[in-house]
Amino acid sequence: MGRNFGITLLTVTMMIFTGLSGCIGEDLDFGLGDENFVPIPGSLTMACLSSQKYTSMVLEIDYEPGYRPETSSTDLLKERLEQVCDKPDGIDILLTETNFQHSGSWSADDVRDKGSEAKSNDPQTGTTLYWQALFPSGEYETDGVLGVAVNPSTVAIFGDSVDEAEGPFFSRPSSEEIENCVLVHEFGHLLGLVNLVYQSPVDHEDPDHPGHSNNEESVMYWAVESSEISNIISGQLPDEFDQDDLDDLAGLKAGTIEIEKQLWLP
Ligand SMILES: [Zn+2]
Repeated sequence: MGRNFGITLLTVTMMIFTGLSGCIGEDLDFGLGDENFVPIPGSLTMACLSSQKYTSMVLEIDYEPGYRPETSSTDLLKERLEQVCDKPDGIDILLTETNFQHSGSWSADDVRDKGSEAKSNDPQTGTTLYWQALFPSGEYETDGVLGVAVNPSTVAIFGDSVDEAEGPFFSRPSSEEIENCVLVHEFGHLLGLVNLVYQSPVDHEDPDHPGHSNNEESVMYWAVESSEISNIISGQLPDEFDQDDLDDLAGLKAGTIEIEKQLWLP
């Protein structure tokens, strides 16, 4: 998400929350007793980090014809999640060509609605955790946004914007490299990074870009999802979680960092 990550996301999430059904509603008690609990990106962090209930995971990739992500992107995403999420029965990728029947730009509500229509299963199904990435045609309603995370299990990557963000010099970074990073970045938000559902003991959140890392070498660096990425980050794009990100996730898993707003807790 862009600069207005926290406020816009929360407001929109609250507005549509009454429309959410089933799987989200029945687990509400796990919102740590907070009566104002609203599921956000990060609300399924513990379901991913722990294997106590969810022993396997499916990364569902729903792409519009012509917008299938590079194999390098989905491979990298799987690798990065395997690094931090305990899933003894494996993490699988499910690629599905989908016509979202949507014209014009996309809002966060559009991503939620179309994601919900396209998804094969509810996020919490049996012992499997389903997270979903949409690769639609068209752009996000806010200029310069390459990707968004819109609820605990859904992200979208805007391929047209990713292509336009390619660097001018010998096409470096390439759109493929940018797509690699943006995809991992948005799923990093689903993991609660940075400080979305906890407060890190380390000061690595960028105060000017809430929910993002201040380290240019972290995939959670704020500029990763910006169309200015080629201008802001010189050299190699970050495509992995940095040590602070990894320490946060390890602390959450171990229980040494307090977590909130969870749909499921071990
Ligand atoms: Zn972001």
